[in-house]
Amino acid sequence: MSISILGFPRIGEHRELKFALESYWANESSLEELESLAQSLRKKHWEAQKDLDFVCINDFSYYDNVLDLAYALGVKPKRFKDLEGLELYFAMARGHKNGVACAMTKWFNTNYHFVVPELDIDNKYILNIDFITKQYKEALQLGYTPKISLIGFFTFFHLSHIVNGEKQEVFEQVKTAYLALIDALVSALGKEIVIEFSEPIFALGLDFLICETTTLKNFYNTLVKKGVKAIVSTFFEHSCEATEILSQTEIYGIGLDFLYGSKNLNSLDTLAKSGKAVFAGIIDGRNIWISNLEEKLALIEKITKKIPQNKLTLTTSCSLLHIPYSKNTESKMDSEILSWLSFSVEKIAELKLLNQVLKDGIQNHKTQWEHYITLNQTRKNSLKIHNKEVQARANSTQEAKRNVSFKERIKLQQEIFNLPLLPTTTIGSFPQTKEIRNARKDYKSGKITQEIYTQIIKDYIKDCVQFQEEIGLDVLVHGEPERNDMVEYFGEQLSGFVFSQNGWVQSYGSRCVKPPIIYGDVARLQPMTIQWSVYAQSLTQKIMKGMLTGPVTILNWSFVRDDLPRSSVCKQIALGIADEINDLQNAKIRIIQVDEAAFKEGYPLRKENIREYEEWALYCFRLATRIALPQTQIHTHMCYSAFNDIIKTIEAMDADVITIETARNSNKLLRIFQEVGYDKQIGPGVYDIHSPRIPSVAEIKEQIQAILEVLPKEQVWINPDCGLKTRKYEEVKPSLKNMVEATKEILQNL
Ligand code: GLN
Ligand code: ZN
Repeated sequence: MSISILGFPRIGEHRELKFALESYWANESSLEELESLAQSLRKKHWEAQKDLDFVCINDFSYYDNVLDLAYALGVKPKRFKDLEGLELYFAMARGHKNGVACAMTKWFNTNYHFVVPELDIDNKYILNIDFITKQYKEALQLGYTPKISLIGFFTFFHLSHIVNGEKQEVFEQVKTAYLALIDALVSALGKEIVIEFSEPIFALGLDFLICETTTLKNFYNTLVKKGVKAIVSTFFEHSCEATEILSQTEIYGIGLDFLYGSKNLNSLDTLAKSGKAVFAGIIDGRNIWISNLEEKLALIEKITKKIPQNKLTLTTSCSLLHIPYSKNTESKMDSEILSWLSFSVEKIAELKLLNQVLKDGIQNHKTQWEHYITLNQTRKNSLKIHNKEVQARANSTQEAKRNVSFKERIKLQQEIFNLPLLPTTTIGSFPQTKEIRNARKDYKSGKITQEIYTQIIKDYIKDCVQFQEEIGLDVLVHGEPERNDMVEYFGEQLSGFVFSQNGWVQSYGSRCVKPPIIYGDVARLQPMTIQWSVYAQSLTQKIMKGMLTGPVTILNWSFVRDDLPRSSVCKQIALGIADEINDLQNAKIRIIQVDEAAFKEGYPLRKENIREYEEWALYCFRLATRIALPQTQIHTHMCYSAFNDIIKTIEAMDADVITIETARNSNKLLRIFQEVGYDKQIGPGVYDIHSPRIPSVAEIKEQIQAILEVLPKEQVWINPDCGLKTRKYEEVKPSLKNMVEATKEILQNL
């Protein structure tokens, strides 16, 4: 039996890559410095994989793996035709003076974002394989056995946008380019290179395929003929349909996720018959609890009943990209809770132990083994995770419907607020300045007193409010300077949450998040946002929006305990948020935004599981917001633009206003709201905040006009497409000014 993983977190134990990238982007360091840092990170990450049968190559990336593949294939958007090398690469990722960045979207149901490749029939596909070959050679030189991680062709194609050309033709063209890439790799690195083709798209079933399944079969057979040892992996769900097809090909192995796709067990007979190597994902690559090794043994036993040990490799369920580096650097966490955790380095140790135990029996690794068993038991029985009161409140069934209809509510709200047509607002956060970050850090570490800290935050809020008044926004925000992160901030004030100091996970590019860890029952201990919202409101006659993160998002962006259904955990959070909404409205905050940025990413990948999720997620949002009085306006914000398949659910959330992310293509994307006769108010983002570019008045006017072609003006709000915290004030100020100006000009001609 062998052991391996599907990828290692690349950002670095101390987020070294993040800082190196940001300094390179800011022209504060050279390309050589960036490259040498990258090389030393790879070396360190392979060292952490030294007990595995392979180390992963090309899981490393300067920004994103899908982008890496696009770049390697020579995908080059027309607007960047004059750019080359890393300048082109980062232009696609982050935008450039020559044009806007490629879109970014979530990687299946994770919080990782990839850069969406733009496919154009006129593209030349001039290959760049240097990224890959360089890493490969480095690993060889260090004495490792490399396994190249590459996004599979089908996944790549289906995640891309076709910007020009007919789908079938582009498909053929990219396929040719992809095969040429494999040729180039083989001729650069030699025959028999091991490539793991990640094809998570197969975990959605095969209905999406625009080709015959024989095309799929032929494609992988062609690859194999080129001389690569091909492993095709799927993850996040079962992929039984694809396994049927792939097992009839000449590929070397098939990788399957037996945790999030337990139905893959049904494919064991097919796999056994095919004689293929099986890469069995049995250690959770998406969550951070130590494994219950007895359960793992039982699972392995099920697999080895059919698959001989010499054909079996034990792996993580997916790339470890989705969990932090190591818990070794955690020094402040409750030591008992810490003992229940397992990050990337620890997951690899679990694989190693399992492998050893399977080889030489438990008795030879008794101490280590029993350690795991004990930890699992103490966790299960610990008083730290159970709170009777919370359980009782959550278990009592509760109605989750606001008792006045939207039609009536909006009338009432409009009478009180008296907002103009096309009211302007923002999504909540303003730039996080160095000063604010330092203040939070210093306050946490006790370097500054609460008085000083409060004063710094208040000063920020004051400036922020003043600026918004100056430029004439209609509904103001306090700017969220007290929040490092929209989930962490709430988690820190709720019971049942614990925080790592260093548990960073890449979200996109150099952006990382530190997901809270929900280990026990959740309850609100005290008001969480009232102080800041009330202060901000005291500074202005305009309406100040209260800002909360919704229960589903708090859940979806946390590492959630695995001993309770997610729906139950979510319900506990919802009740905490409801208490906060109640306090806010009692404190005269009239508009409250409950962000559900991650509502959609919690959707199951397989259709058959969607209804159950929608039911409880919707219920929890409504349970949180039903406490709002009819005259309290509930906003929600969602960080995406494709609503076609979830529009009914969005409607049923019953928020008075929803702001969404449709900076590009808004017209087309909004049609769905028109089609279903969506009657509530909508703020489709009028410019993209993910890029440093400043949108012009004309550009924003065009956006607004496009929106007004689809939606009645009475329903429309004007706002950027997400929070502004990652931007600089120099970008935000002119952008928002232009937004307000554009709105004014549009209003004049309405
Ligand atoms: N209110 C949050 C902010 O503005 C919302 C961000 C989000 O949904 N991603 O930062
Ligand atoms: Zn957003």
